[in-house]
Formats: sequence, structure tokens, C-alpha cells
Amino acid sequence: MNGLMQDKPLLISSLLTHAERYSGQVEVVSRRIEGDLHRYTWADVAQRSRQLAMALDELGLKPGSRVASIAWNGYRHLELYYGVSGSERVLHTVNPRLHSSQIAWILQHAEDEVVFFDESFATLVESLKPLAPGVKHWVMLCEPDALDNTADSAGLLSYEALIAAQSGDYVWPEFDERTASSMCYTSGTTGNPKAVLYSHRSTVLHTLVLTTPNGLGVGSQDALLPVVPMFHVNAWGVPYCAALAGAKLVLPGPALDGASVYDLIEREGVTLALGVPTVWQTLLDHMERHQHTFSTLKKTSIGGSACSPSMQQCFEDQHNVEVIHCWGMTETSPLGTTSKLMTQHQELSREEQQRVRLKQGRPVFGIDMRIVDDQGIEQPWNGKAAGHLQVKGPWVISAYYKDEIDNRLDDGWFATGDVATIDEHAYLQLTDRSKDVVKSGGEWLSTIDIENIALSHNGVALAAAIGVPHPKWDERPVVVVLKKPDAEVSAEEILALYPGRLAKWQSPDDVIFVDEMPLGATGKVLKTQIRQQLQGYTLPDLGS
Ligand code: AMP
Repeated sequence: MNGLMQDKPLLISSLLTHAERYSGQVEVVSRRIEGDLHRYTWADVAQRSRQLAMALDELGLKPGSRVASIAWNGYRHLELYYGVSGSERVLHTVNPRLHSSQIAWILQHAEDEVVFFDESFATLVESLKPLAPGVKHWVMLCEPDALDNTADSAGLLSYEALIAAQSGDYVWPEFDERTASSMCYTSGTTGNPKAVLYSHRSTVLHTLVLTTPNGLGVGSQDALLPVVPMFHVNAWGVPYCAALAGAKLVLPGPALDGASVYDLIEREGVTLALGVPTVWQTLLDHMERHQHTFSTLKKTSIGGSACSPSMQQCFEDQHNVEVIHCWGMTETSPLGTTSKLMTQHQELSREEQQRVRLKQGRPVFGIDMRIVDDQGIEQPWNGKAAGHLQVKGPWVISAYYKDEIDNRLDDGWFATGDVATIDEHAYLQLTDRSKDVVKSGGEWLSTIDIENIALSHNGVALAAAIGVPHPKWDERPVVVVLKKPDAEVSAEEILALYPGRLAKWQSPDDVIFVDEMPLGATGKVLKTQIRQQLQGYTLPDLGS
């Protein structure tokens, strides 16, 4: 027997409609590229998103068409979140920090028909145009007269002109909630980047849980600042969560330095700010230098990399700001776990409580997790046995876009590539990674790319890219090289191969020559052994 409740699909447009109807006067404030603050309301977001949807109709974009954005966190990007997905197209948020050849590959792979971009990426777009012939329209997120500032405005459209031509008299369509809504490429695994394709259903369910107390605990009195970029996993879902909760949304634009972020938090009364540890370190350093304190910030959500004890203590003990340590991935929308205390922890001392909350935390409703050994046997939850972390749930990936052979699903469980323990109270703690990757400042680096470029030198026999600890960036890559017999190769020669092929931050900081490369039975380089050999190694920029 079916229930007799209304059968309304879970659509992203419903989040915006809710914000417009019930929190229409609540503000959305953005730092613009020019540096000044733009402010309007959720009612304005809704009106302009509808105008955008109509403009996309006029451009002839069919349902399911991919629409790319190359943009910072700002109000026009927010309108793309709602206008594109709400009108049944798919928003593809592109990471502008990638090398232009990688971005072009991604645009072609996604089959993007339109690219919306911030003025600061006009030069990048010039280099992308010949490389991405499938793109039919390039739209700059600007007023029409700003097009005159670009070197070559031929073929460029102005966002404001495009939407000004539309009335906004538009009704959001209703369709199957399993329809694709947005996509995000991740280079966390080897080979070419892979796209995660979110659905309306996965996004709305994720948003609902994100808002709960065991998630981030967001309400209508909050002001949210996602410092995490809108091109990274939908800014962790914050632009949706703010609409659902009727909260104020504050978007930092390109200004992610400590002074700008601090200024925005104080000026706009931010209560919850979200980002990776590198961003918070920059903010905390700035505050320490200027003896600043927070007057409104209550919570900060830290994820993407592990939060260190000193960062947790600085936020909590010096600034009275609660740290919510989270674990998640592009493939998990991203929220998987949050580190919150349980009733039995109330009796513990503050230090002991902080130790519990430094773990990556417990799964939110919707996420199921387990750890398994190399044979796939489940490991006990005793806080000691480590295993490969696998997860499942309605906002966890089932397959990558256009990837027919999916080797990361094990009987419905997604293999995260993280290695972890789980304790008896279901607190997850990451201990290692089985995936061959380096994460620097919250961004993945491709070890394969680094190795292939080193191997393009004809004196190099084998190359292995390894992440080594760095106090600011968490990790930086170095490339370990075995020369061909009698070959003459210098570190400078190898480092000179990277400019023009990878962005500077994606390139290795150092070259380490070895006499022997440790190889496994199948001839694969044993990176675990190299990592052990490199213990005690110091990166050149850190000195000895
Ligand atoms: P991404 O897909 O770029 O969001 O990266 C996801 C990966 O970042 C995870 O699989 C982990 O390896 C790492 N990660 C995410 N959150 C944390 C955390 N709180 N502590 C340590 N590593 C994390």
C-alpha cells in the first residue's frame, strides 16, 4: 500500500523558491572582483536566476545541456547554481587553477555548450577558445561595457545584457528528481580527471542533512561564509544549505587572503565559515599579527585535509570558535562525517573532548561506512585496526560520468582510497591513503602528470612523484628519479620541463636522484618504501 502523501520531486529550484517566499529579505553579500561589496537578497537571487533560465532557453540549450562556470564565489555564480540546474541543465563548475590544457580537456569531455566566466579569467578564456571548439557561447560575468576591457571581445556575450533581455516571468519546470544537476571533475585518482555527476535528489538530500545539528547545524540566524570555492564540490553544498535555512550568505570573491577574509567575517557578522586548513592558517596568522579577535564567528567547518591540534586549539581556546572537523570527498557531495561529541563525552576534560573531535568524526544520516582489509574482509571498530574506507549512501557516487568500467565500487560500496580506523563509538580517523595522490593547499596534484613529464627527459629511467609534508600547504610534491645508466641529468633540467605543461603549484618543488628504485612484484614503484626513505627529508624552501 502506498502512502497518501504528495509526490513532489526533490528539486534544487525548490530550495530557492523556499528562500524567496519565506526569507526573501535576507541578504546575500559578495566581494566583487573589483574589491567592493555587492549586496542583494534571496528574492533578487530568485528573480535573476529565473531571468538566466529564460536566457538559456533563448540560447537554445536543451534539458541536460552542460553549462560551465569558471568563476570565484560571487552572486552571479550563485545565480548559475540555481538558474542552470533549476531549468534542467547541468552546471559544470570548473577549477580555474588547473592548467589551460587540462581545462580545455575537461570542457571537451563534459561537452560544455556555454562557458560563463569571471572577468579575471578573460585571458585564460582566450587561450581556451581554440582548444575547446565545442563551446558555442562564451559569456563574461559582467556589464556590457566591461567587454571593451578584454583584448578580444569578438564572440563574447555579457551576462548582464543576456539576462536584462528577459522578464524573469518563468515557472521552474518539474521533472524527475534523479535528473543530473551539476558536475565537478576531480583529479584525485590517477589518469585523466573524472567527473562526478550530482542529481537534484542527491543534492537536496545532502542539503537537508548538512543543515541538521549533526551536520553543520544551520538556521535562519546564521550568516554563512563558504571560503571553499564554488568550483569545488558545490562549495560543500553551502549555497543550497543557506537557501534551505533562510540564512544570510556571504561570498568572498577572489580575495582569500587573511585580511580580506577577516574583514568580511567581521563586517558581515559571519557565524559559520567553511574552508580547508590552508585558508584558515592564513587567516589565523593574520589575526595573530594584528591581535584581532572574532566578534560574531561561532563555528568553523574544516575539511579537505586533516585539522591539526594547534589549529583546533587556536580557534577554540584563543578565539572561542567551535571547530567542526568534517570528512568528505567530491564523490560524496561531500559530507560524510562530522566530528561532534556524544552525551558520554560531556564528562571528559576539554583536552580530552578536543582529542575526540580531532578525529574525522561520525557519519551523518544517509552515509554508511566500513573499513576492509586487502582481501575485502571487514575490520573491527576498535580504533586500532586500520582498513580501506568504503562508503555508500544516496549522495555517494555510483559511477563516474562517461566511465564505463567502474573499479571503485565493491558490492555497492565506494572505495574512497582513504585508510582509516573506526572506534567503538563510530568515530572515523584517517591514518593513511591508498590512492596515489598528493594534496597541496586543498587541491589535488596528478602524480602521473608529474612522472610523465620527468620521463620525457631521455636521461630518466624511472620517476615517482611523492608528497612530502609542508607546514603551509600540507603537502608538496617532489619527484624521485632514477637516471638511465651513464646519463647526465640535472635537477634543473628536469624542473625546467614543467613550466607551460603544468601550473606552478602542480609542479614538483624538488628532484631527488636515487641509485635504485624500489619495485613491487608487478614492476610498480613502491611509493610506500620511497616515502619511508624520504623521512627526514626537508623541502628546499624550508631550509634545513
Ligand atoms: P576532494 O575530493 O578533493 O574533496 O578530496 C577528498 C579527499 O580529501 C578525501 O578522500 C581525503 O583523502 C581528504 N580529506 C577530506 N577531508 C579530510 C579530513 N578531514 N582529514 C584528512 N583528509 C581529508
